[in-house]
Amino acid sequence: MIVTDSEHRISDICAEWRAEGLSVGFVPTMGAFHRGHLSLVEIAVASSDRVVVSIFVNPMQFGPDEDLDRYPRNLEKDCKSVEELGASVVFTPRTDVVYPDGFSTGVYVAGMSEGLCGAARPGHFDGVTTVCAVLFGIVRPDLAVFGMKDAQQLAVIRRMVSDLRMGIDIVAAPIVREFDGLAMSSRNQYLSVEEREQACFISIGLEMALVLFRMGERNCEVLRNAFLSKLEDAPLLKVQYVETVDPDTMLGVEQVEKQVLLAVAVFAGKTRLIDNILIELEV
Ligand code: AMP
Repeated sequence: MIVTDSEHRISDICAEWRAEGLSVGFVPTMGAFHRGHLSLVEIAVASSDRVVVSIFVNPMQFGPDEDLDRYPRNLEKDCKSVEELGASVVFTPRTDVVYPDGFSTGVYVAGMSEGLCGAARPGHFDGVTTVCAVLFGIVRPDLAVFGMKDAQQLAVIRRMVSDLRMGIDIVAAPIVREFDGLAMSSRNQYLSVEEREQACFISIGLEMALVLFRMGERNCEVLRNAFLSKLEDAPLLKVQYVETVDPDTMLGVEQVEKQVLLAVAVFAGKTRLIDNILIELEV
């Protein structure tokens, strides 16, 4: 497996593969891999001939008071684990390679990037879409895999790829969870023992809402309240938002018709955790 920080090397390698008729799968990440990230790589390996994984902690998607400087980094271990899964290249660009002097372009997806995490983290999705547009331009993949854990990110990227006719198949990967249901996240390692113990109430609350739905409840306010009442059992957790939205448009939904995404952001101490569950009528 090749590990490189050179944009030109990556572009050349991918161009050669395309010339040979090989399909290129891409997994953009910020590193510090857990099983959630690795599941994305597995999907990419299973659905394309060659796989590029990028590791880039993107300053543009962090707010001024966020954890950019202390974001976990573990390059050597990350490379080893994706090599074992069959990735062909790891791309580790420096910030001045992604954003060279004079870089002036931003990609902004109106509407759906503004609510939920977009409201809580102003500018966050502009950073995500801009860096993905740059990385897509370098790699020019046939498909790219994103986790459903970041459901709004997935919807925003899909919109960008469709609007800008990027011709990339965006594949959604299911949320990978810890033994007690907590969605895996690089930020889980910030949690104290007590916070970690209580963090499992997030997924339990989401499951409670799903149970209510399966019992026939269709009113989204009732489903949101089911989540909130479960969190009352976890005093270290503070809800930032709990919303019911259409998973494609991120617009609010008040009555479940076909499907609704129950999406939440919760602080455990200073650590912000997100999670969601897709609630849908079985056909
Ligand atoms: P990050 O490194 O946090 O930017 O995440 C890179 C990719 O991994 C994104 O597409 C995330 O949605 C995905 N991801 C992160 N955590 C999980 C998880 N627990 N399950 C599935 N995918 C995940």
